[in-house]
Amino acid sequence: MYSIKKEVLGAIIEASKNTFPEEFIGVLGGNIKNKIIDELIVVPATFGTDFSAIHTHLLPMDQKIIGTIHSHPSTSSRPSQEDLNAFGKLGQVHIIIAKPFEPSSMKCFDSKGNTVKLKITG
Ligand SMILES: [Zn+2]
Repeated sequence: MYSIKKEVLGAIIEASKNTFPEEFIGVLGGNIKNKIIDELIVVPATFGTDFSAIHTHLLPMDQKIIGTIHSHPSTSSRPSQEDLNAFGKLGQVHIIIAKPFEPSSMKCFDSKGNTVKLKITG
């Protein structure tokens, strides 16, 4: 189980709503050992194309980067094949938030695409 800070979740929800109907893509910062997500890092990406549009070569070589977040303009938070390929490449924890962009429409996965629990902390 991973923990995510309430402010980070709020930022994710806001960014996803603002980017809709395009996909929002971001990177998660935190502590992988303690399984804490405490930062949303907005990265250079081409919004509205697909997940593979994250320009990984432009990412800071930061130990804090532990995974990814992206939104689905549909109501399905199921990872696509493309998502699964990307999950394996960039970090250990991956969040997909689907319409209507609420905590209940959000799912968290490991790098193999297995669902993992996400706890919201203050
Ligand atoms: Zn996706």
